[in-house]
Amino acid sequence: MVKSKTQVISDGFLKNKKMNIFKITVFAIFLLNAFALSAQEHSLKIIPEPLQVQVNNGSFTLKKENVIYLDTNFLEAQPEVKQLQQLIVNKAKIDLPIVNRDSNKKVGIHVFRDPKIKNKEGYVLDIDARGIHLSAAHRTGLFYGIQTLAQIFPVPIENIPLEKLPFLSITDSPRFPYRSLMLDPARHFLPIEDIKKYIDVMAAYKYNHLHLHLTDDQGWRIEIKEYPLLTEIGSKRKETDGDGQPHSGFYTQEELEDLVAYARTKHVEIIPEIDMPGHGLSILAAYPNLACFPRKFEVSTVPGVSKELLCAGKKEVYEFYEHIISEVASIFPNTKMHIGGDEAPLDQWEKCPNCQKTMQENSLEKEEELMAYFFDRINNILINYDKEPLLWYESNVENYPKNSTVILWRYEEPDVKLREIQSRGLKMINSYGGNVYFDYPQWEGDIPKTNWMNIISLEKTYAFDPVRGLPEEENNFIIGVEGCVWGEYVPNIDRAFYMTYPRALALAEAGWSTDKNRSWENFQKKLDKHFIRFINEGINFRPPNELSKK
Ligand SMILES: [Zn+2]
Repeated sequence: MVKSKTQVISDGFLKNKKMNIFKITVFAIFLLNAFALSAQEHSLKIIPEPLQVQVNNGSFTLKKENVIYLDTNFLEAQPEVKQLQQLIVNKAKIDLPIVNRDSNKKVGIHVFRDPKIKNKEGYVLDIDARGIHLSAAHRTGLFYGIQTLAQIFPVPIENIPLEKLPFLSITDSPRFPYRSLMLDPARHFLPIEDIKKYIDVMAAYKYNHLHLHLTDDQGWRIEIKEYPLLTEIGSKRKETDGDGQPHSGFYTQEELEDLVAYARTKHVEIIPEIDMPGHGLSILAAYPNLACFPRKFEVSTVPGVSKELLCAGKKEVYEFYEHIISEVASIFPNTKMHIGGDEAPLDQWEKCPNCQKTMQENSLEKEEELMAYFFDRINNILINYDKEPLLWYESNVENYPKNSTVILWRYEEPDVKLREIQSRGLKMINSYGGNVYFDYPQWEGDIPKTNWMNIISLEKTYAFDPVRGLPEEENNFIIGVEGCVWGEYVPNIDRAFYMTYPRALALAEAGWSTDKNRSWENFQKKLDKHFIRFINEGINFRPPNELSKK
């Protein structure tokens, strides 16, 4: 037993040279201490935990003679069925043909449409003596059924033939419709191919939105044809935190269109964020006239909140955003666009003659009302492009457009803010910084450069309650969850993976599984299978070795 585990680990090591020896050692100790019995237990170890699972006696063994039968009423699901075909090649090394057919009498793999399944993301997966039966009302549900099946295939630690699957019956659908992770290429540019790899992994855990923080003081990362200096000047900074190394990078519109199309094959929508009216030094470095007090600005080289906002009293600012929104909307077809709204100190607006004139003309008494006016005008532009605003929630904004969805994120007084959001009649996504800020360290020493960040351990993320105790009849305004990987200390995708996993596995259960169906005890027992997969696929993660000390 010990030998077979060591074998698995060294195989993974050979495949993934980036994994260092220290980490492998820690991981080995973790496995041996925490999961010595796991190979004997029969557990499917599916993350996120499905709604209903029944494991039956017996198993089905895939054979070369099997066929994948696709229901002729479900032919639009061809792309997903091809992914299923590829999955079986990858997991069991068997390449099965796809045949369109109504009957499901023959032994094999049967994919069919079941309009009785109410949730678009729901599915039913049965495995019995006649084979594998996957049904859904919609392609998305089928996709999630395939992700579940992918996790049911054995990994070497289980010492089961790779083509052998237990008899079972799973009925599944998500708790929340919106399950998201956020990456921050504004702080550190991430190449498109790396983001695709990130999408592959999140989709396997049934996340359906990737939020890209595309603009900030430290960099503007999206090509805008009307304003070429945004990328010519705004995408470059001379150094990062005093390292003396220039940093730059941006996405062309064509690259982003390709990314959107790729994400769609994984049933992930990309939410672009253009942060306004603060976090805009990269804009002002290129177009200083958009500031309240134009002068020479530089793309920021350090973390922190700048007091420079775009001027709410200049018509050029609204013209600027009209162009930006029209170009961004043409790349991202989804309904939501994130327009930032966080950390926008009002100091400059208080002093600016243009801002003050706008306040007088519109009978606004304080700058907080000017902020609401600003978002109303931006929202009017969004409506013209069939978009709804998504914003970081700030208590001091006088009011938000009624069609807004806001993200709860601030550490202080989350329950007070939750009640405010509810009473304002807004929709909410929970990204509470005390549980699901994945740029925060998972344990002591995780981020050597900083000491102000709280530790968010895997257990703390698992304890995340997306509705913060609100009873069901009151929590309908909460539509989902988001884990944020802010990029100040995340220089590349390997680090992003390290910060994301395994905490995003814990959040995946908070977003998908019911509270009744999930438990910290059971979750810990499921992790080893997923870590084996990460090692085999070269996905970086942090071994939660603190758990092995218990
Ligand atoms: Zn101004």
